[in-house]
Amino acid sequence: MNAEIIAVGSELLLGQITNTNARYISSQLAELGIDVYYHTVVGDNAGRLKQAIELAESRAELIIFSGGLGPTKDDLTKETVAKHVGKALVMDQTALASIEAFFQRANRTMTENNKKQALVLDGCEVLTNNHGMAPGMFYTHGNHVYILLPGPPKEMEPMFQFEAKPVLARWLNQGEVIQSHVLRFYGIGEAELETKIMDLLDNQTNPTIAPLASDGEVTLRITAKTSSEAEAVRLIRETEQQLMSRVGDFLYGYNDDSLASSAARLLIDQGLTIAAAESLTAGLFQSELAAIPGVSKTLIGGMVTYTEDAKVNQLGLEREVIDEFGVVSAECATAMAQKVKSMFQSDIGVALTGAAGPSGHGNEPAGSVWIAIVLPNNQVVTHQLHLSDMRNTNRLRAVKRTLHYLIQLLSHQTLNNNVI
Ligand code: ATP
Repeated sequence: MNAEIIAVGSELLLGQITNTNARYISSQLAELGIDVYYHTVVGDNAGRLKQAIELAESRAELIIFSGGLGPTKDDLTKETVAKHVGKALVMDQTALASIEAFFQRANRTMTENNKKQALVLDGCEVLTNNHGMAPGMFYTHGNHVYILLPGPPKEMEPMFQFEAKPVLARWLNQGEVIQSHVLRFYGIGEAELETKIMDLLDNQTNPTIAPLASDGEVTLRITAKTSSEAEAVRLIRETEQQLMSRVGDFLYGYNDDSLASSAARLLIDQGLTIAAAESLTAGLFQSELAAIPGVSKTLIGGMVTYTEDAKVNQLGLEREVIDEFGVVSAECATAMAQKVKSMFQSDIGVALTGAAGPSGHGNEPAGSVWIAIVLPNNQVVTHQLHLSDMRNTNRLRAVKRTLHYLIQLLSHQTLNNNVI
């Protein structure tokens, strides 16, 4: 089966928003083994949308729409599809009840046009919207399958993942099970990783192995297609073991893990608290950790000490450390990490200091960064990074590298107060 994704919305054509929905849907379809041949973007115009549907039908079996399911006049996706396939729009009572409940909860008056959102194609399978109002639709007509999804990614993504994808997988495979499992790597480039597993990539059939690189991370998605879940799990485990024997040293997590969530989980599991003193990253390290639910079990707090004076006056660094070694130095990073650990009474103290760029700092070139991690037994681990002159890329990379060093330290040994 091959697919075309039609993203509807004039704001996409005006350059006001990026078509991230197409990227998301494509990556999800790849997991189902469906090839996407075209991404189309069309404005809120019934005539041009109809043309886009006709064209898509001539070259794809599965057509997925995103956007245009809202209450306003310019939301016309389902009206256009309904007219095109010769079907009426009917009120879905469950969706209507859920929209009414939403307005009641919010203590807002429901206007008549909001009811329009509960209209669905007669004969479709309704896809529940658990994060918004407009339901989605799965509809088969002749040789074609149409899936209509809402525009906002926070509604569209869970709807695709939990509502549309299972229906699609069932429809596609009838009896076949498709399962995938993602391995996440850091500290190894895509090219190096691919070289190490080239023969496995070349010979893959079932399961398939799909590499993807972004932001210094590489993922490998293993997808198995079999007749039973147990068999899919067995095939995936077998392939995972082969991959791990080659590149396991760089693995930091699975599926939806991030560097921050993996680090937070290890810290929490080991009962360790952490505090950070940040210079060039100005709170980004703590912010990344704070994005993880439940992180208050480990993240106590920290300080942003950007200037030399702040490092001395707020964090209590000895001025001589800065005078002798400079702020971009192992000594300064170490002193910052030690001070913040003692100030916040945490098990681990972390510090990041460096020249974010585009210009350097004194003799230190742009992208020169020092990271210090003070462990529960007060042992200090420092790392120097040589990044580029791209300021905000460097700040984010410094945070990711710090999280990765923490993961490595925490996964190779238990860092509670009695060990090390
Ligand atoms: P609503 O009820 O919010 O109107 P809708 O299904 O009608 O939902 P649109 O009106 O087309 O969707 O888009 C609503 C918002 O969703 C857009 O303003 C934009 O922020 C986001 N959005 C729409 N399409 C896309 C897309 N292809 N990629 C990323 N974001 C999108």
